[in-house]
Amino acid sequence: MQEPVLVLNANYEPINVCTTRRAIGLVLGGKAAMVANGRGYIRTIKELLPKPSVIRLAVQVHRPRPHVKLTRREVFRRDNYTCQYCGRRDGGLTVDHVLPRHHGGLHTWTNVVAACPSCNHHKGGRSPEEAHMKLMRHPKEPPENAGYIFGRHLAENNEWTQYITGW
Ligand SMILES: [Zn+2]
Repeated sequence: MQEPVLVLNANYEPINVCTTRRAIGLVLGGKAAMVANGRGYIRTIKELLPKPSVIRLAVQVHRPRPHVKLTRREVFRRDNYTCQYCGRRDGGLTVDHVLPRHHGGLHTWTNVVAACPSCNHHKGGRSPEEAHMKLMRHPKEPPENAGYIFGRHLAENNEWTQYITGW
């Protein structure tokens, strides 16, 4: 019941991902309609319901365009799983604050990068200039298109592609 379900606005714009449990609540409550299923069935009190993969809200909701949430996983994805100082792709990655937080660096997209443990350790609590380290590129907020925002789900939910493309 925790599988991700893609939520479309009434105009078919993809706006969110929710759990199967939440999606079924919306469908049973008449707030959303099933758009795609194919994940088997769940038994409700009254009926056997196909498990949704994509649902569409009955009433258009107004909300700002979704942004990519700043999480470790999304930082690594933006930086292509590559240390932004040395270019290494193997081994574990860490999140580095370019300007360290105790120097007033913010936890924002433009101040975080993926760094391998040895670069992060070498940099310590210093700025790249102080540590004589060079960033491969300056960190930016990821693109706001739906293909990027929901992209991390696509490998496991390929059927979403047609609902995301173009937004
Ligand atoms: Zn490195």
